Amino acid sequence: MQKVRGILIGRMQPVHNGHMEVIKQILNEVDEIIIGIGSAQASHELKDPFTAGERVVMMSQALAEKDIDPSRYYIIPMQDINFNAIWVSHVKMLTPPFNIVYSGNPLVKQLFSEEGYEVRQPPLYDRLHLSGSEVRRRILNDENWQELVPKASVDLIREINGVDRLKNLSVKEISDL
Ligand code: NAD
Repeated sequence: MQKVRGILIGRMQPVHNGHMEVIKQILNEVDEIIIGIGSAQASHELKDPFTAGERVVMMSQALAEKDIDPSRYYIIPMQDINFNAIWVSHVKMLTPPFNIVYSGNPLVKQLFSEEGYEVRQPPLYDRLHLSGSEVRRRILNDENWQELVPKASVDLIREINGVDRLKNLSVKEISDL
C-alpha cells in the first residue's frame, strides 16, 4: 500500500521540545515524516546562529533519544530561494513525495494550499516558552534554556561552543548598528 508522508519545515534554530512534540504527533497520523531544515544557507546570525549541519545533528540525535524508528523519517536541509511563488516546487525537488503539510507558519500554509496540498496546523505546545527566539533569548541572558530543548541540542551546543557563538554574535550585531 502507498505510504502517507507528511512534511514539517522549520528553521529549528535550535531544535526545541515543541518541534519534538509536534513530530511525535505527526507520526501518529502518517507513515513517514519529512523534516525540512529550513533556511539551510543561514548561520552565524543572531536569529539563525546554527549551521544546517549542526541542526541536522541536533534533530537526528533528538529523534534517536526518543527511540523513533529511523526508517520513518527523512531529514533534509533546504535553502531559501528568493521566489515564494516557486518555493513549493523547490521543496518538492528536494524531498520524497508527500501528501500532507504540517505548519503553523502563515506563509508556508498559504504557499502549499495554493498548490493544492492538504495543510494541517498542528497544536502549539507551550508557545510562550517553546520557541526558538525564547531559547536564544535565554542563552544570551544566562537563563535556563536547557529545559526547553532535547538533550541532543544541549550536547551539540556545548560541542560547538554555541553559547559563546551567540554572545559574540550579539556583540557584533549591536556594534554593526
Ligand atoms: P520554526 O522552527 O519556527 O517552526 C517550524 C514548525 O514547528 C512550525 O510550523 C510549527 O508547526 C512547529 N512548532 C514550532 N514551535 C512549536 C511549538 N511550541 N509547539 C508545536 N509546534 C511548534 O520555523 P519556520 O520559521 O516556520 O520555518 C519555515 C521555513 O520555511 C523557514 O526556513 C523559511 O525561510 C522557509 N520558507 C522559505 C521560503 C522561500 O525560500 N521562498 C518561503 C516560505 C518559507
